[in-house]
Amino acid sequence: MEVILGKTAGFCFGVENAVKNTEEELSKNKNVYALGELTHNRQVMDKLEKKGLIVKEDIEEIPNNSTVIFRAHGVPPKIYDIAKQKNLNIVDLTCKSVLKIHNVVNDLTSKGNYIFIIGKKEHPEIIGIYGFGGENASIIGKEEDIDQAIVNFQKTGLNKIIIIAQTTFNSEKFKKIVDDIKSSIDSKYEIEVINTICNATVIRQRETDEISKNVDMMIIIGGKNSSNTEKLYNIAKSNCENTIWIETKDEIKEIKNVSKVGIMAGASTPKESIMDVVNYIKEK
Ligand code: SF4
Repeated sequence: MEVILGKTAGFCFGVENAVKNTEEELSKNKNVYALGELTHNRQVMDKLEKKGLIVKEDIEEIPNNSTVIFRAHGVPPKIYDIAKQKNLNIVDLTCKSVLKIHNVVNDLTSKGNYIFIIGKKEHPEIIGIYGFGGENASIIGKEEDIDQAIVNFQKTGLNKIIIIAQTTFNSEKFKKIVDDIKSSIDSKYEIEVINTICNATVIRQRETDEISKNVDMMIIIGGKNSSNTEKLYNIAKSNCENTIWIETKDEIKEIKNVSKVGIMAGASTPKESIMDVVNYIKEK
C-alpha cells in the first residue's frame, strides 16, 4: 500500500511557538496557567498538564500574581486589562499572524472604518479579533449573517467596510462570502478586502485538496474541536468519499481495498501522532 504523507501535516509555526515557549516556562516555573487549551489536541495537552500546566477557561479563576499564558489564538483587549488588574505575569504567545490582525482592526476602526470579520462566531480567535473592533465590527459566520451585518454597519453611519477573515478560514468560502457581501450592499459604500487567511493554512488546504484527489482513502489527523482540521476534513471528503477524521491511530477501523492512502494533519497535531498513524498503516 502506498502512503502519501502531506509535507505540511502537523504543527504550524504559531502552535509550535506556543508549545515550545510553554514548555520553557514550565521548566522554570511550576505555577503556570493557560487561558484556554493551548492547542486543540488532547495528546499535547495531556503532556503539558503532566508538566504542571493548569488550564482555566475563565481568567477570573486564575489566582492573582501568577503566570498566565495567552495561546496562539489571542485574546480581546479586556482580557489584557483584567490580567493587569490581577497582577498576572503575562506570557503572550498570540501567533504573530493573529497579532497582525489585531493591529489592523485596531488601526482601521480608529480611522472610522467598519470591520466585517468572516469566521466562526464562537471561535476564540474570532472573539479576540472582535474585541479589537469594539462597536464597529460584525462577525459573519455564514451567508445568512450578511444582512444583519449590513444593518449593523448602516446604523453606525460609516461609509467604508473592511472585510477580513479568520486565519484558518477556507479560501474558496471566503471569496464566495465576499462576493455575496458585495452583491448585497449598496454600491455607494466603499469596500476593501484584506485577506488575512494565514499562509500556513492556505498551503495546507491546497495540499490536502491535491492529495485527496489522487488516493482511494484519506486520513485526516487532528482534534475533534480543531477548526482547521475540520476544514481539511471537508476539503478531503469533497474529493474522496473514503475520508476519515481521527485523533489517534486507535480510531482506524478497517482499511479494505485501498492501494493509496493520503495522510494530512491539522495545525495542532504533534509529529508523534502523525508518525504513529503512518507506521500503523505501513504495518498493515
Ligand atoms: S494557523 Fe496560522 S495564524 Fe493560526 S496559529 Fe498557525 S500560523 Fe498562526
